[in-house]
Amino acid sequence: MSTEYIDIHSHLNFPQYDTDRGKVIEDLEKNNISTITIGTNLKTSTEAIELAEKYSYVYASVGVHPGDDPNDRFEEPRFEKLVSHKKVVAIGECGLDYFRLPSVPSEADAEKRRQKEDFEKQISFAVKYDKPLMIHCRAAYDDALDILSSKKKEYGDKLCANFHFFTEPIETAKKILDLGFTVSFTGVITFVKQYAELVSYVPLDAMMSETDAPYVAPAPHRGMRNEPAYVIEVVKKIAEIKKMPLEEVKRQLVANAQKNFKLR
Ligand SMILES: [Zn+2]
Repeated sequence: MSTEYIDIHSHLNFPQYDTDRGKVIEDLEKNNISTITIGTNLKTSTEAIELAEKYSYVYASVGVHPGDDPNDRFEEPRFEKLVSHKKVVAIGECGLDYFRLPSVPSEADAEKRRQKEDFEKQISFAVKYDKPLMIHCRAAYDDALDILSSKKKEYGDKLCANFHFFTEPIETAKKILDLGFTVSFTGVITFVKQYAELVSYVPLDAMMSETDAPYVAPAPHRGMRNEPAYVIEVVKKIAEIKKMPLEEVKRQLVANAQKNFKLR
């Protein structure tokens, strides 16, 4: 199929698709849409690979989410078995999430330390296996950017990263772009007007399109379960905000994802 859209961040491996996963995925093929389905721990990473094995236009990312379950730790030997699979195109989602830290300060500090440790391990792992990072960052941009800028000095161009579900202020976007990293936008840009300024600021060659399905469906599907096929709405909105022809935006966003994740 000739790819027209790429949703670089979905969770087709999640239970929300247990009853109709096959149909949701086959609809993607009909619409020439590819997706990267994202692991959040060892189990969901393994499931992402299983889906990628079955469908040519589904790719997988493997890693450990920072905030889902403190008992899910990144263990390199276990992930080493997964990363060599040819459909694994990124490491993550990994990063820092300080949104729901424990209220006791000493416990909050310990949790931050735990998250940073796992994040740093996954950064080294991504560089070692020549994969870009799929970053989840919430309420922790200062720490995440501190870690990434020092790693960038160490690893240079070998370190690639995309900040998924990006909704931060323009000055944060600038720091990310200055490091040579990218950001991706979800369906929230279709219904939160204030993000238009951010979307216009980020150059088209430094951004990608995603859904984070099953979460946060774009307009006009709000309130429903999200699907990777709805990435079309995200791409349309980017074209509208950028005042550019849809065909040109589609082509560039596909090219960005193919380059960043070395998709074939
Ligand atoms: Zn996600």
